[in-house]
Amino acid sequence: MGDNPYEIAVRQLESASEILKLDRGIVEYLKVPDRVLKVKVPVKMDDGSIRVFIGYRSQHCGVRGPYKGGIRYHPDVTLDEVIALSMWMTWKCAVVNIPFGGGKGGIVCSPKEMSHNELERLTRRYTTAILPIIGPDRDIPAPDVYTNPQTMAWIMDTYSNIMGYAVPGIVTGKPIEIGGSEGRVSSTGRGVAISAREALKKLEIPLKGARVAVQGFGNVGYYASKILSEWGAKIVAVSDSKGGIYSEDGLDVDKVLEHKQYTGECRGFDGADEITNEELLELECDVLIPAALENVITEKNADKINAKVISEGANGPTTPEADRILEERGVFVVPDILANAGGVIVSYFEWVQDLNRYFWNEERVNTELEKVLVRSFNEVFEIKKEYKVCPRDSAMILALKRVVRAFELRGLWPQ
Ligand code: NAD
Repeated sequence: MGDNPYEIAVRQLESASEILKLDRGIVEYLKVPDRVLKVKVPVKMDDGSIRVFIGYRSQHCGVRGPYKGGIRYHPDVTLDEVIALSMWMTWKCAVVNIPFGGGKGGIVCSPKEMSHNELERLTRRYTTAILPIIGPDRDIPAPDVYTNPQTMAWIMDTYSNIMGYAVPGIVTGKPIEIGGSEGRVSSTGRGVAISAREALKKLEIPLKGARVAVQGFGNVGYYASKILSEWGAKIVAVSDSKGGIYSEDGLDVDKVLEHKQYTGECRGFDGADEITNEELLELECDVLIPAALENVITEKNADKINAKVISEGANGPTTPEADRILEERGVFVVPDILANAGGVIVSYFEWVQDLNRYFWNEERVNTELEKVLVRSFNEVFEIKKEYKVCPRDSAMILALKRVVRAFELRGLWPQ
């Protein structure tokens, strides 16, 4: 079986549906996205040439509310990946019980090789191409891999120009000055940290001094490590696409960030040893945080994982085969749709603030995020006890129950 993300997403859906003994028709309904748009994005490059990029937007299931999900700029973006990510967004919004359905977008491109101006033109043209299916009541994009608040500002500006008035609710993850929310940049990392903390609590392992390894020192990885170290945990290793660093005594994450901003990588940090990304995953630690890309914990390395808790920052970092091995070995996995839901929870708060034109302070954002995530964490682990299944299945069961209930209440139209 390959690691095609869509196949994996469908297998996860099938697995939870079997436990719930769901009607086949409903499973078939949920396997297929509501709507997928493939668009041509022609861009005039800085040298005057025209390049044509391919973009997608997938809207998986809208029964619980408007579609919600990020936009990814990456050379490996595929339609299957975008659909899988949109399906995971449906479950993620349902598991934390916020009134959105799953969406996701992507453009096949190499953003690191494009200039600021080329990225702006790409973003604005993509926005006009997907305009017929997005909107603050319809589908609300957000940042994902290699897109950021600036990208969201361009989307918001393009959409607002076409509408003729400012529409901040069209995207979340915007800069604060144009309707973004306090606490949004750190929210996914904060959620990953809260999930790790709650899992350690269940295992009765003290957070103070807990050893943490983080793969992917980007937005999610940095904030998760920063917040966990503020709570007394010891960050023993971090990495990026070029490789990782390890320190038995713990790393000062702000100093690592400074070093990375200066040199472009984690490696070479004073006083730390170099390790590979593979070695990082197999380190002996209390908490492992995969916060880079999909399929990094597979059947090939799952029996070598030496962590007590895995709090999944990335989407889809663990394959189903690896999940089974980790469960047998007693590793406590907080699945992605719960662990990294902090971003979409605060995106929901941002959207609510935009619609109300009334903004909260950071303390309120963080308090509300904590409430939603801890409540959802406990709900997932109640289901785990009730159904005696792995945490990924229990999160899926909770999400599926909510989506199916909404589907049943609304009914299938026409009859
Ligand atoms: P980012 O671009 O800020 O950071 C990604 C980091 O991963 C970078 O440090 C990069 O160098 C590193 N990386 C890339 N390839 C790698 C590899 N092969 N091995 C090790 N490290 C590698 O992105 P982000 O926003 O932090 O997102 C990280 C993950 O979290 C993605 O899977 C994303 O879908 C997921 N996620 C992000 C958010 C969010 O709000 N940003 C929300 C939910 C989920």
